[in-house]
Amino acid sequence: MSALDFLPWQRDPARRWLAARDRFAHAWLIHGLPGIGQQEFALAGAASLLCESPRQGLACGECQACRWVLAGNHPDLRRIRPDAQALQEGGAASDADAGGKKQPSREIRIEQIRSLLPWFNMATHRGGWRVAVLYPAEALNVIAANALLKILEEPPGHTVFLLVAQAPDRLLPTLVSRCRRLPLSAPPQAEALPWLQQHGVTEALAQLAAAGGAPLLALRRAQQQQAAVPDWLRLFLEAAARGDAPGDLADALLALDASDWLDGFQRLWLDLSLAAHGAPARYYPELESQVRTLARAAAPTALAQAGQWLQAQRRLAQHPLNAKLRADHAAQTLLRAVRPAQSTPSSSR
Ligand SMILES: [Zn+2]
Repeated sequence: MSALDFLPWQRDPARRWLAARDRFAHAWLIHGLPGIGQQEFALAGAASLLCESPRQGLACGECQACRWVLAGNHPDLRRIRPDAQALQEGGAASDADAGGKKQPSREIRIEQIRSLLPWFNMATHRGGWRVAVLYPAEALNVIAANALLKILEEPPGHTVFLLVAQAPDRLLPTLVSRCRRLPLSAPPQAEALPWLQQHGVTEALAQLAAAGGAPLLALRRAQQQQAAVPDWLRLFLEAAARGDAPGDLADALLALDASDWLDGFQRLWLDLSLAAHGAPARYYPELESQVRTLARAAAPTALAQAGQWLQAQRRLAQHPLNAKLRADHAAQTLLRAVRPAQSTPSSSR
């Protein structure tokens, strides 16, 4: 996939979005769940805006502008991202940090925003657009966000800002209010599955479900050889079915990042609550019969409380807690929650 191309499920929304390019807003907030391709959308959108002879609104791939975008040197395109992200993508870190020996920054810094100012005064190629793609917008630190806000309050001519975010509620509200919102949704399964199969993902259906319907996340997980249903989750279900101590489970959790197993448990919990309401599994269809058995036996209040507990743990995931304590505690708390209803003290009036 090249920097010019929208993902297959994005082409129609992109055409609709770009159709009004004559009266285009100067700042857009492109947002959606992680792993559905909002960054790809923004970059392909930038290419389409810069293209000299767009086809049905999308980049042609053949003009001078498209060739520059492909080569990564279009003078009217800037990517603003944390240095750590730029390095990950194989690009150079921003000039402000060139030659520095520090850890690459995970933030978008004010120097990166300030470095745009001279660019606004340069003429654009054939009087076209100038496009700044900024991702993820959550990485803007407060000072940088305020500097960007100042720019957007008096937007430079011929310039379009494409901000990409997963969680707009974590952004400076005044910044959000300066942008038109463009929400993107996960593609229908019928479009995501063939795409995953084309990219060599076996078990595409299970991987897509485990990724909550987000195809790029499913692809990344598959490329990292992650099983659609992690082994530790099977261990948990076996321990829950037997009702015994989760010693090996806590060890398995300890080998992972807390945020990974919290993700897995939260997904399992959503499937459990769906099963409790007679609805089909969303994340782990393969485990459906085991999950249904557990959901039938568990007390609804205990399940709900454990769900809230998991939510709270999420917020604490960055906290430097003792990893072993956290894993032990989680395994025990969650196993208790799925024990049969009669062994749970009633919390009703
Ligand atoms: Zn072109």
